[in-house]
Amino acid sequence: MAARLLVVDDNPLNVKLLAAKLTREYYIVLTAENGARALELAAREKPDLILLDIMMPEMDGFEVCRRLKASPATKNIPVIMVTALSDVSDRVRGLEAGADDFLTKPVNDVALLARVRSCLRMKSLMDEWRMREGPEIEGEDLSRPANAQVLLLEDLPAEAGIIGNSVERAGFVCHKAPRYEAALALATQHPVDVFMIDLALANEDSLRAVASLRADEATRAHPIVVFADESDIGRIARALDLGANDYIFKPVDALELQARLRTQIRNKRTYDRLRLSYERSMAMAITDPLTGAYNRYYFEQNVPRLFERHAADKEPTAIAIADIDHFKKINDTYGHHVGDQVLQEIVRRLSGSMRFLDVIMRMGGEEFVVVMPDTSHADAMIVAERLRRGVSERPISLERPHIELPVTCSIGVAGSDAGGNDPAGLLRKADAALYRAKQSGRDRVLGFENEKEPAKTPE
Ligand code: GH3
Ligand code: MG
Ligand code: MG
Ligand code: MG
Repeated sequence: MAARLLVVDDNPLNVKLLAAKLTREYYIVLTAENGARALELAAREKPDLILLDIMMPEMDGFEVCRRLKASPATKNIPVIMVTALSDVSDRVRGLEAGADDFLTKPVNDVALLARVRSCLRMKSLMDEWRMREGPEIEGEDLSRPANAQVLLLEDLPAEAGIIGNSVERAGFVCHKAPRYEAALALATQHPVDVFMIDLALANEDSLRAVASLRADEATRAHPIVVFADESDIGRIARALDLGANDYIFKPVDALELQARLRTQIRNKRTYDRLRLSYERSMAMAITDPLTGAYNRYYFEQNVPRLFERHAADKEPTAIAIADIDHFKKINDTYGHHVGDQVLQEIVRRLSGSMRFLDVIMRMGGEEFVVVMPDTSHADAMIVAERLRRGVSERPISLERPHIELPVTCSIGVAGSDAGGNDPAGLLRKADAALYRAKQSGRDRVLGFENEKEPAKTPE
């Protein structure tokens, strides 16, 4: 779907000009002639990007930007400031007000489209992560990112020195590399937030460096800021097309550089935070909160693939189901709270007796499944016996109430080498063996023996 842009300018001629250029590129353009109208439209129409004039009567662009960024409804919409001011301190003020980028009037077509595209790309990346929900993770104040690290790819020592100084004066660490290979090596040693690349390297194709950083899984989401002579606007446009996020003209102004880096670092940290929150909510979905073991959902999602992988290598997989004996009695005697502590301790004990590649899942209640890759039925019997002993070896000592609880469990085992290779089928077989273990007196390990076994767990 075409992106929707909001153009804000008090001069109708400017609005018309910008709108025409953008419409020609198939963007959908909304317009506002003052700050108040811009705020209203932004909140109601949720455009993908806002192009915002600075000099406007009543409410100027800085103020509009501050308000947009302060409101939850509009704070995630990128803002590009459009200014006639050539004074660098005003550009910096715009970025400090929360703008994501800026353009100078008269607006150069290449710069306009490149910056619009780069902002939209960033926004859709962020939206993608936001959509995967999960609570926003609280963290550092992103307007003042701490311990930020910049990697500068620059082959002229004098320029590297000057730019490095500006970076360091902003409070960021600056790693310098004269070549792409060296830059990559440094990036594996340090948690780099932003890459800065000179587009006029003598012995290397800097555009290729931009493309490689974008292609590499490890640096795919890292911001890239390029710098070049104003006459090199064509190369800058290509760098932005290849995935660079921002550019600066030479000679690099220290204040502008610092403000742009701060914006990119803020984006990077926001992105990292969204991804972390997504990963955490994924981890939560597959984990049993009481014991920390994986849950049934994990079994359904991951165990079939694990079986297939090992079957392809002609390796057997085995499953053991452990069920605590007379667990209900513990609950009935000491209460649910004690039962919960026992469940936690049982998982600790089972996990302690497992081997490195074995995986434990709580399938519900007081029933645990251990999946054993590359394990024959016979070996699984031996491991299961160790699991059983690990649980019953010594009573469970609780602090509150102060009691010693002897606990045992029964275990049923089935290995794929004894027939069948789908996890659900094997689970039923192990369950049938468990049923017999319960029937024949509990506190023991039995393996699946034949298809005539009753495939049913005891109540
Ligand atoms: P058996 O030896 O035949 O397995 O007997 P049992 O008492 O262990 O088995 P039963 O299936 O009769 O009872 C299981 C009990 O586990 C009943 C249920 O209330 C309890 N339970 C299930 N989930 C939890 C939990 O998260 N916490 C606690 N405390 N108890 C739980
Ligand atoms: Mg104006
Ligand atoms: Mg039980
Ligand atoms: Mg049970």
